[in-house]
Amino acid sequence: MSGLFSAAFLRQIGWDVDVYERSAVELVGRGAGITGHPELMDALEASGAGTKDLGVEVPKRVAIDRDGHITDERPLRQILTSWDRLQQILRGTIDPAHYHLGRAFELVEQNGSGVRVHFADGTVEHADILVGGDGIRSSVRAQMAPEVQPIYAGYYIWRGAPNEADLAPETLRTIYPLFTFYLPKRQQVITYPISGFNNDLTPGKRRFNFIWYRVADAAQMREMCVDENGVQHDYSVPPPLIRKDLIAQMHKDAHEILPSALLDALMKIKQPFITPIYDFTSPSILYGRIAMVGDAAANARPHMGFGMAKAGGDAQALARALRDHDNVDAGLKAYNAERQPIGNTIVMHGRKLGTHLGVNLKTEEDRKMNALLQNDGAMLDWIAVPHFLRAYQ
Ligand SMILES: Cc1cc2nc3c(=O)[nH]c(=O)nc-3n(C[C@H](O)[C@H](O)[C@H](O)COP(=O)(O)OP(=O)(O)OC[C@H]3O[C@@H](n4cnc5c(N)ncnc54)[C@H](O)[C@@H]3O)c2cc1C
Repeated sequence: MSGLFSAAFLRQIGWDVDVYERSAVELVGRGAGITGHPELMDALEASGAGTKDLGVEVPKRVAIDRDGHITDERPLRQILTSWDRLQQILRGTIDPAHYHLGRAFELVEQNGSGVRVHFADGTVEHADILVGGDGIRSSVRAQMAPEVQPIYAGYYIWRGAPNEADLAPETLRTIYPLFTFYLPKRQQVITYPISGFNNDLTPGKRRFNFIWYRVADAAQMREMCVDENGVQHDYSVPPPLIRKDLIAQMHKDAHEILPSALLDALMKIKQPFITPIYDFTSPSILYGRIAMVGDAAANARPHMGFGMAKAGGDAQALARALRDHDNVDAGLKAYNAERQPIGNTIVMHGRKLGTHLGVNLKTEEDRKMNALLQNDGAMLDWIAVPHFLRAYQ
């Protein structure tokens, strides 16, 4: 997404841009939901992608208890969209001739006035700059700053997106139309409606984004990364290979822990999958003529659901800085000066919200935040806000 955003904004200032994607086939997002923060909406409009038929609107965020009763709520009108929809509209901003599938970045060389980029298929491209938008496990960053490594947060998410049509009438009536939190000790369950397959927004054909945060130390997570065939994976297991015993245990826990509507939603997920949570910051998001954007530059825990908005904001700032400076290097430096601290702030904010889970509480401030967020209303005060970055300005 940060690559597509970068291409769209750089083209607007008159640059020729090509996007190189490692995957040989068009990407699909496993039904992941994305929060429509105002910053994301602004970036989509400014990029030319637009926000037409983006997703499903919810009027507020609510917290519920074990019996399904609402314990607190905050009005927050927001569009909830899906990864697939964003990918589709952002892809639409790029001439297909400049979008190259099956081109895995391998190595970059630079000589002060440009870059030579080598791809795994043996091809080489020359350019004025390289924009590294290759995600949390960025190969570009691995070459430029191998010491910058994502840090496991000590918790992970069970995820999935069941079909609206499969949900029980009670689930549809109570939580489906809302952005819902259930916050038992050291856990968080979050749900909201999103579009269906092929971005279908017709009632009855939509899906329901389901996220369940749970705690596991690094050793437990490593054990969970052993797949159905006994193969150890480094970071996460592809959804079809997640071990059946893990899913069975998760279902058993769910029967003991979840309110009935959330249990219904969870049990309707055909292929639940696990995402371990990592984050990191980097002292610089610029290496000569190489600018990092999106998750490759800094990656926050997903509590705020702000990764996509950050990707758009990074890309927009990069193009603005290059437009407003007479030479490329001054523009790149201005980009780094503007967005590196913002990336830090977003990551720190994610860590604050993550203290709710009670993992690695190192400072007095962490412990205070952990205690505060045990209250549903306090959590909503922190998380049900538009423009949260303004509080740090
Ligand atoms: C559980 C979870 C929930 C989330 N919820 C939200 C949310 O509600 N709202 C939100 O805004 N964000 C959310 N995010 C974050 C969001 O998904 C990311 O911030 C966003 O995808 C960042 O985009 P990116 O382009 O920087 O990186 P990525 O989406 O990771 O894209 C990187 C791309 O680079 C390609 N690539 C990798 N290596 C190479 C290589 N060597 N050569 C060529 N190409 C390569 C990859 O194939 C991929 O297409 C969530 C994330 C998680 C884990």
